Amino acid sequence: MHNQPIPYGRQHLTDDDIAAVTNVLRGPLLTQGPHIAEFEAAFAQYVGSRYAVAVANGTAALHLCCMALDVKPGTRVITTPITFSASANCVRYCGGEVFFADIDPDTVILDVDAVRALLEQHPKGYFSGIIPVDFAGYPADLSAFRQLADEYGLWLLEDSCHAPGGSFLDAKGIEHRCGDGSLADLAIFSFHPVKHIAAGEGGMITTNDEQLYKHLLRLRTHGITSKPAELTEPQPGDPERGGWYMEMQELGYNYRLTDFQAALGTSQLHRADAMLDRRRAIARRYDDAFRNTNVQTIVPPSSVGHAYHLYVIQVDDRKGLYDFLRTKNIMAQVHYIPVHRMPYYQQFGWKAGDFPNAERYYARCLSLPMFPTLTDDEQAYVIEQVLSFCG
Ligand SMILES: *Cc1c(COP(=O)(O)O)cnc(C)c1O
Repeated sequence: MHNQPIPYGRQHLTDDDIAAVTNVLRGPLLTQGPHIAEFEAAFAQYVGSRYAVAVANGTAALHLCCMALDVKPGTRVITTPITFSASANCVRYCGGEVFFADIDPDTVILDVDAVRALLEQHPKGYFSGIIPVDFAGYPADLSAFRQLADEYGLWLLEDSCHAPGGSFLDAKGIEHRCGDGSLADLAIFSFHPVKHIAAGEGGMITTNDEQLYKHLLRLRTHGITSKPAELTEPQPGDPERGGWYMEMQELGYNYRLTDFQAALGTSQLHRADAMLDRRRAIARRYDDAFRNTNVQTIVPPSSVGHAYHLYVIQVDDRKGLYDFLRTKNIMAQVHYIPVHRMPYYQQFGWKAGDFPNAERYYARCLSLPMFPTLTDDEQAYVIEQVLSFCG
């Protein structure tokens, strides 16, 4: 029996991380200092995108993306029911309508064929975009979504909160990293402590599109710009205009990250590859332990570089196993209650039974402890308890 509860996820902070934060706290700039640009550049390099915009959290990232993609009342967007509700809520912030399509039970990712079927039921132009989610760290097949999006004139916003460092090989054998800007118009990440990289709170948007990038920078800071080339009323000879001049050109927000959070994020990013290797090693060990048992797992093909934010098993008596593991101090968790079943979304007509694959998955899923500092002994204990319950 473990005296300390074993959570399903946990951040890992080193002395270097703490020093990075305290250095900023001793300096002159707590926010809007040099560490934001440094974090953005390091993150863009890590995922392989041209641009990155640091923001207050992953939800703010989603909101700004929907604004930049011009979601407004009447705009219809498709996403998955198996995700954190923020993936859908961002559309509602802008007054748009959320549509769901079922998941592929083999990957728990939004099913491209189900999305195609939904698109085919309506005239072209009815929908505006798709928000695929790299659920649990399994990268969505964005080459398939891109093809569909191009066919129907849609944008793609990848919710990659679970998958920094994830990748997949497309049919031609070309590698795409999650958020690298090669297929999705925009991708977003979260730095909540339970995610791969902790910044307290924090988020990032990545893209290869210069127009979207510039727009996102403005939206992040109230819709304000002082860049001469962006001013709507360039009157350089105006004697009344001084160095203070700026324009609020549209309604934006204060969705900035602080400089000390950015320093923490950059410091964490230095260890991202090592931490991802550790997550993958933990996953291999779970895969091996549950092979040929009645604990169902998802083992990705070799073309998929899974990022393992979560390690999800599926079992018949999920509630029994959840309760049993709690008595053993193992804090397994359920990801997620389907978004369309949330009371808020029922006002739009969604109901239980709408997406059978998602609901069958939800009835059986449980996330086991998965974080880089999980020890071999702790993992052995988790495996032993799961197998003792599942027989
Ligand atoms: C965590 C998460 C978010 C939201 O990120 P926050 O930083 O908590 O706002 C959005 N989508 C998914 C899939 C997430 O896991």
